[in-house]
Amino acid sequence: MDMTDALRLEGLRGELKANEPMARHVSWRAGGPAARCYAPADLDDLSAFLRQLPAAEPLLFVGLGSNLLVRDGGFAGTVVLTHAAARHPELVAGRVYAEAGVASPKVARFAARHDLAGAEFLAGVPGTVGGALAMNAGCYGGETWEIVWRALTIDRRGQVRTRAREEFETGYRHCSLIGGGRLGADEWFVGAWFDLRKGDGATSRARIKELLEKRIASQPLSLPNAGSVFRNPPGDHAARLIESCGLKGLARGGARVSEKHANFIVNQKGAARASDIEWLIGEVRARVLERTAVALQPEVRIVGDAA
Ligand SMILES: Cc1cc2nc3c(=O)[nH]c(=O)nc-3n(C[C@H](O)[C@H](O)[C@H](O)COP(=O)(O)OP(=O)(O)OC[C@H]3O[C@@H](n4cnc5c(N)ncnc54)[C@H](O)[C@@H]3O)c2cc1C
Repeated sequence: MDMTDALRLEGLRGELKANEPMARHVSWRAGGPAARCYAPADLDDLSAFLRQLPAAEPLLFVGLGSNLLVRDGGFAGTVVLTHAAARHPELVAGRVYAEAGVASPKVARFAARHDLAGAEFLAGVPGTVGGALAMNAGCYGGETWEIVWRALTIDRRGQVRTRAREEFETGYRHCSLIGGGRLGADEWFVGAWFDLRKGDGATSRARIKELLEKRIASQPLSLPNAGSVFRNPPGDHAARLIESCGLKGLARGGARVSEKHANFIVNQKGAARASDIEWLIGEVRARVLERTAVALQPEVRIVGDAA
């Protein structure tokens, strides 16, 4: 009996799969399989699943995989897919509550519908609330943790906790727990409450529209990608540096530095291997370092084993 059979656990209502291709679950549409992949039915089900999992099992929470590269050899552990069973956002005592698996743009639209302002930027972040919290995602002057009131987390033993915003250290594309478990290794997000100001729905919707139009004009959205590959170095833009080094169009296998936005790597015709993308990331970094002395740091998360 292999590990996945052993994981046909008691009383679960979600879906457990073995050897699940992660290319189906990440926006780059590339990469290897997860040894096991669980899509929980709801929070209680996730808690029951985690309680029955061996303590040493490597765990990776994945939202919409819009900031994630899984190497071609795959992830030798269990992936928890948060998006499938996520419920709609709700208004709770004047605040927006959203489960971690809810798509961030849905939170932006929900807030606008309720005349709450400040979440518009989330319309431009094509991941989940969990991914936005983990990455402190942001754009157009907004950042996720600026609008978070509290977060709901779960740990390896399936214990759910409400944590105040002050329990987290956050910065540019960064979030960690102060003095708590290791976020992403022992503890994960399952929901968040957003504190938004009273606004006007029509104004918010106009802002969302404007923001999405800017994105369509500047980003290669018709090809699989993972948004900005590198973090912006202090006082500069990774895209500007990459372009100044003449690296637009640099390609390997099916992966290519976008001609439209130099900080994007696109998967042409879905033919890229994760190794092509990772090679390009390394090559861009090395060439930018050589010519400008700036060491770019990846924003995308890279996990798993080489093929
Ligand atoms: C076209 C495009 C445009 C983008 N524009 C922006 C932008 O403007 N600003 C920006 O900040 N980002 C941007 N991104 C990147 C990406 O959308 C964000 O980082 C997003 O928040 C990731 O969410 P996700 O659910 O897809 O996370 P995933 O890619 O699934 O995961 C990313 C990381 O978060 C962790 N994670 C996911 N869910 C949880 C959870 N519940 N608990 C704990 N950890 C978790 C994962 O383990 C992983 O380490 C863009 C991406 C694309 C494809």
